[in-house]
Amino acid sequence: MVLHVIIRSVSILLFLTVLGFHDASGQQKEVAITIDDVPNVMVYKRHGFSAPLLKSINELSLPVTIFINEKNIYNNEFVNQNFTGLLTWLNNSFIDGGNHSFSHFNYADIPLETFQYDIIKGEVITREILKQKHQALTYFRFPYNSLGSDSITHQQINSFLTQRGYTIAPFTIESEDWMFNALYEEALKIKNVEKAHQLGQNYVAFTLQLFDYFEKLCLDRFGRNIKQIYLCHDNQLNTDYLPVLVDNLKKKGYSFIRMDQAMEDNVYRSPDFYFGRAGFSWIYRWEPDREKRKALLQAEPENTILHTEYDQLTKRAGKN
Ligand SMILES: [Zn+2]
Repeated sequence: MVLHVIIRSVSILLFLTVLGFHDASGQQKEVAITIDDVPNVMVYKRHGFSAPLLKSINELSLPVTIFINEKNIYNNEFVNQNFTGLLTWLNNSFIDGGNHSFSHFNYADIPLETFQYDIIKGEVITREILKQKHQALTYFRFPYNSLGSDSITHQQINSFLTQRGYTIAPFTIESEDWMFNALYEEALKIKNVEKAHQLGQNYVAFTLQLFDYFEKLCLDRFGRNIKQIYLCHDNQLNTDYLPVLVDNLKKKGYSFIRMDQAMEDNVYRSPDFYFGRAGFSWIYRWEPDREKRKALLQAEPENTILHTEYDQLTKRAGKN
């Protein structure tokens, strides 16, 4: 009888573990990876018109939603190859496609009509390819995550996106990978392999630190770890280090889900109380009190060394 109960308990535990209701800490950890500014045609050309990042995604069986700027196809003279490259991304079974506008304008800096036109222009190829995959184009991610400069412009674009069948793609965690990447590219350019390696390691370590931070913040605010959405970019840094980051997240107990699955979390039904132009995490936008939001933003770990090095880089670039 006792043995029967034990066997039964173990089976239930195994069943729950398989379903993902349990991990070592008792908290379910899930994240959807999203990659912006696809396709990066400079990196694509560098790798002989192939995308090693996509190859890694395939090898890892990693679900990823990519946010596309179709204008990128025309960023160099290899338009045909770039077009084929985008097709390869979108036709991959691990990839879901979203619109990131055609030109990557900051909505807060341009008239509503110009931005609306840029959204429509940015969906032409993507919508057609997704249609062939029997998928709808659902998500729109704002460039710089800038939803406009005030509540009126926010409301105007919200209505427009709803009419066109879009859902705004939020994110909860990002780690300034674009800043790391600028320094990483510079290190590679001057062939300082050691520095490049150090930057890659620092990027992974800082991202993991932020995951820990947001996990704790979510536990404080929501009493649980929410389904996280990580935002990063199509660049050389992620080509080389996203697999390392994914490996480390796995070790922390994370499983990787599609954007749709992440969006099933009720937290994404929370109202957005922020009506400014800044591009920060949705976790802060869900805080109605302005002062509390400010305090939360200030409490986020900052990478001062990264910021200093990035400022020095832009100053050097300005002098050239
Ligand atoms: Zn972007």
